[in-house]
Amino acid sequence: MENRVPDKHRLSRINVKTSILKIEKPQKKTYIYGLGTAGKWLATSLRSEVAGFIDSDKKKSTKKFNQIPVYSPSEAKLVLDSNSYVIVTVLDIQDVIENVLALPTKDWVALGCYLNDTKVDVTLLGENISYIEYALKAVEECHKAYFSKDKLFLKAIDVVITERCSLKCKDCSNLMQYYSSPDNIPFEEIIKDFDKLLNTVDHVYELRLIGGEPFMNKDIYRILRHLCNEKKINKIVIYTNATIPLKTDQLDVLKNHKIVFSVTDYGNLSRNTSKVINTLQENKIPYRHYPPQNWTDSGVIHDHKRNTKEMEELFDQCCGKNLLTATDGLLFRCPFAANAHRLKAIPFDKKNSIPLGSSKSDITDYTSKISYLPACNYCKGRSYDSPEIEPAIQTKKPLKYKVYNLVDVS
Ligand code: SF4
Ligand code: SF4
Repeated sequence: MENRVPDKHRLSRINVKTSILKIEKPQKKTYIYGLGTAGKWLATSLRSEVAGFIDSDKKKSTKKFNQIPVYSPSEAKLVLDSNSYVIVTVLDIQDVIENVLALPTKDWVALGCYLNDTKVDVTLLGENISYIEYALKAVEECHKAYFSKDKLFLKAIDVVITERCSLKCKDCSNLMQYYSSPDNIPFEEIIKDFDKLLNTVDHVYELRLIGGEPFMNKDIYRILRHLCNEKKINKIVIYTNATIPLKTDQLDVLKNHKIVFSVTDYGNLSRNTSKVINTLQENKIPYRHYPPQNWTDSGVIHDHKRNTKEMEELFDQCCGKNLLTATDGLLFRCPFAANAHRLKAIPFDKKNSIPLGSSKSDITDYTSKISYLPACNYCKGRSYDSPEIEPAIQTKKPLKYKVYNLVDVS
């Protein structure tokens, strides 16, 4: 894989002003790789100067955005030519770089390398300005880190702080439906694990506190107090189902500038949504609030007896393979592997994870160079075109599964 540092020629072709990114007199047709928030913002800023989008998500590549066509990577190979110019806006640039290099043009740049705390003055349907700026900052950090040779930057890490949830969704992709005696992860263990990781990692853009429901762990405020003091962490996102009201005597912790809430509203099941949202609004704590979206049948654990090639294909198509998850002193590529390991629902295999205290190069290899996990054999996969299912159907009893001994089979 090639690491391309933008050269002066490229820098002179796009010019980031305070708010709008401009291409100066483009001689070539411009394509935007990635129809996410950053890609939409860029297209809106450039207005009519965009010939098309490129996106691997099949659901997106059949649509248009503002009348601009969206091509799959294979369609793009036929549509683009050596006179095309591509701006990559995908956060996980390492995942698309091979597709970019396979295009019939060598003229491409990574958007994030040209962003610099960019302020936004265009609105996008369904997104507020502060969220667009947040997304652009993430692209900036990820792209600059990707091209930096000696720094280890992680875009996001999910930290499991409890196995307990106030809901029991039978299709939970974090596998909470299988825990028969769920417990909280002790404060000391969480902090010890995280300190180990931060000894090696230079920067974590977004740390996500997850569970289950993170507020089931009464130590959450203590955990937040500790993590907010970590200089290497940019943002801490708390994923909650809004069933548990926020403690009013702990608001000083939540008002820290690093904290953002992600509130999933399960309708009648999220019985304290208005209370939680009111508290966030009154205290000016940033949050996103949305219904459960894009649920797929990814919470099933089953021995599919796949061969290596089949696991590689599943991994290649998986949209969850970069949801790095820290638990049990280990770093996993995805919450499925992490929780299947915690549950002993898959045979022990060293290749599923890496110890949190590993070296920079080992963490880099694990987070960017592997082609599958042994856990993929037990997973249905999370491809972009998986059919959607009805979200949040509740189960009264924990689901049964096969328990393996923790014997090293690798
Ligand atoms: S999906 Fe349901 S069970 Fe899983 S963490 Fe969220 S609310 Fe809990
Ligand atoms: S186990 Fe493999 S296929 Fe399943 S979510 Fe993780 S990376 Fe994706």
